[in-house]
Amino acid sequence: MSNYFIFQDIIHKKTPSNIVYQDQYITAFEDIKPKAPIHILIVPNIFIASSNDINIENKNILADMFYVAINIAKNKNIHQTGYRIIVNCNKHGGQEIDYLHMHLLGGKKLSKL
Ligand code: 5GP
Repeated sequence: MSNYFIFQDIIHKKTPSNIVYQDQYITAFEDIKPKAPIHILIVPNIFIASSNDINIENKNILADMFYVAINIAKNKNIHQTGYRIIVNCNKHGGQEIDYLHMHLLGGKKLSKL
């Protein structure tokens, strides 16, 4: 069963979360189970299930998501020490929530991929 509504409800503030950034196109919020001292999820406000659903019409949202992630890293002052941005896709990629999202991880030395 699809669970995309979890992030949709966060975007529309039907479910509480720590939103760190929101504009017309993008929402960014703290991961409920952080895997690093800073672990933020960046999502498009329009529903896109996974990176497989990026197309010629919606591809600019990736640049917006990336730009927001980088600016959050700067605001949280982890840009000098560094950070990791990840997008998981489907089962083998480890995607659990069926709503396109970018992970921003930092605040400690991350293990090698
Ligand atoms: P995925 O494994 O799909 O790439 O990442 C999904 C992420 O969403 C996980 O890191 C998980 O901890 C996070 N997550 C799942 N449910 C919730 C929730 O209800 N609220 C928040 N803030 N994060 C969630």
